[in-house]
Amino acid sequence: MEAVSRAMGIEVRSRGGTRIGARMARPEKSKDRRSAPMVHCLFPIGNEPAYRKELNMAIQNIGRTGSSRKTISVPAGKRKCPSCGTSTYRTWCRECNKHTDLIPMKRRFGEVNKESMNLSEEVDAALSTLGVPMPKEVKVLDSLISKNEVPENIEKGILRAIYDLGVNKDGTLRYDMTDIPLTHFRPSEIELSVERARELGYTRDMNGLPLTDGNQMCELKVQDVIPNIGCGDYMVRVSRFIDDLLEKFYGLERYYDVNDRKELIGHLSIGLAPPYLRRNTLPHNRLYGSKRRICPSVLPRIQKEELRRGRGQPDPAP
Ligand SMILES: [Zn+2]
Repeated sequence: MEAVSRAMGIEVRSRGGTRIGARMARPEKSKDRRSAPMVHCLFPIGNEPAYRKELNMAIQNIGRTGSSRKTISVPAGKRKCPSCGTSTYRTWCRECNKHTDLIPMKRRFGEVNKESMNLSEEVDAALSTLGVPMPKEVKVLDSLISKNEVPENIEKGILRAIYDLGVNKDGTLRYDMTDIPLTHFRPSEIELSVERARELGYTRDMNGLPLTDGNQMCELKVQDVIPNIGCGDYMVRVSRFIDDLLEKFYGLERYYDVNDRKELIGHLSIGLAPPYLRRNTLPHNRLYGSKRRICPSVLPRIQKEELRRGRGQPDPAP
């Protein structure tokens, strides 16, 4: 730098005099996991560009592009109704309400079976089954990749679109959150009323005193988790989708029947490894451990031991 300065006749200074570095691990995450691009229904309508893999666009553009005026070819497996013998792509026969059987076909590699169908009639039938208006957008697929190419029912996609739920390619609805170990909480901090807390078994605080005030500190029971607000709201949408599906499609009773995330408190949930506060889910240390995750800040000794035995993966440092 000195030599450069001398040669130039002016003082040249280094671009960054002192640098301070810091390591940053994976940021805290809390978001529903949806496929990109968004998909509401695992239903194939072919790769015609004008359809834009969307039901409304497809219905508008059928006849303008295809040779036949009203039908499109759906790349899906061939199925047959055991009762009336109708050939269809659907898993159930709309006329007989029976489950259809797959017709195994010998196909050469790359060969696609096409089932012809009247999309607008199908969508109208689905809408009248559900008794709902058509959503603005129902995103679907161009083709299926599963072996038997069984499309989902359009009804599911319409309901998912109504509740803005994106489906993954295995048909699941997902929400990703970062885990944080927790052992104690105050009911007032997690939108939990004292009455509901007592109903859930939190009758005493950490000191053994009867729980009467939301500000008392309680010990978290090992099986309980505290998801964040965003997850709570997402779960409300999922529960309403499930309820609508049960009631309007399968003709069963609604199960959750909630309008607010607080009403979901106390319901059963399943945590999967890898993994209502602001951002994260707060399980008990032991639940965290049972998901084969190690909580580094709380159990450094076990973490080292587990790592030595090659079990589990440490979560990235916060
Ligand atoms: Zn039938």
